[in-house]
Amino acid sequence: WSIDTIAVVTGANRGIGFDIAHQLAVHGLTVILTSRDAGVGDEARKVLQERGLTVFFHQLDVVDPSSIKVFAEWVQQDFGGIDILVNNAGVNFNHGTDNSVEFAEQVIGTNYFGTKSMIQAMIPLMRPSASGAHIVNVSSRLGRLNGRRNRIGDVTLRKQLENVDTLSEELIDGTVNKFLEQVKDGSWTSSGWPQNYTDYSMSKLAVNAYTRLMAKMLSDRPEGQKIYINCYCPGWVKTAMTGWAGHTSPEEGADTGVWLSLLPDQLVTGKFFAERREINF
Ligand code: NDP
Repeated sequence: WSIDTIAVVTGANRGIGFDIAHQLAVHGLTVILTSRDAGVGDEARKVLQERGLTVFFHQLDVVDPSSIKVFAEWVQQDFGGIDILVNNAGVNFNHGTDNSVEFAEQVIGTNYFGTKSMIQAMIPLMRPSASGAHIVNVSSRLGRLNGRRNRIGDVTLRKQLENVDTLSEELIDGTVNKFLEQVKDGSWTSSGWPQNYTDYSMSKLAVNAYTRLMAKMLSDRPEGQKIYINCYCPGWVKTAMTGWAGHTSPEEGADTGVWLSLLPDQLVTGKFFAERREINF
């Protein structure tokens, strides 16, 4: 890899995102480390730059359309385009066995709509190359459609979301918007949504579905302009999000994301991974 390959990582000031940025830079890429808070983001950039790595910083709040617009214009002007986008930024307010939906709008807004906005804003900036450009979405096994405890009760809806032929933007957005409406009117508990980490699970379920949908929509791009898009679960990782509980380190949590970002052209797209292996949606 060379510094001519440019990777953007969202929410990279700490946690798994920081390690994804670090590892991509160690592979020799130019990394654009982004963070919603300019102060901590620039500090993180300095840490990596002091290790001799090629890392730039720009402010980016994935729920703020004007922040995304300014960022996209800066990328276009200073770099001309990018090769890799890692959508890592995410929030979760559920702890232990609590099932908080108090922040459902923020959770769905950041994890799903933020990821979606970034994909839409960055696709036009993805540079043509023989090996293809890559989008990697950091997701979670909690968003699995057929998880044991966490699946959606509505079998018809589940089947529609499972079948890539019936998947559409309207279906995914409609599903999360219906969930959010029911959170507001209090009817969500009896409506068969995932039983724990409900809002977070719904946000990652939507990320997974959108990954598959985009893979389908991007599949007819001509040779040389291919964009591959996949998602992965980093495992249960010791970061602020888990209160530093978890089984693995942020370095290990970053590994599959980095591996997917650097996959050579193997037509791997629209898939879900964990520990470098494909898993079921
Ligand atoms: P952290 O809480 O440590 O990091 C989350 C990052 O996302 C922070 O940099 C945070 O910024 C950033 N972020 C939040 N909202 C926004 C926003 N609106 N715009 C830009 N950045 C934002 O958590 P992790 O490192 O654990 O999580 C990283 C990803 O991994 C998330 O998508 C998470 O859902 C996923 N994941 C994590 C697991 C785990 O066990 N830790 C398990 C499965 C998935 P700030 O510092 O400003 O808050």
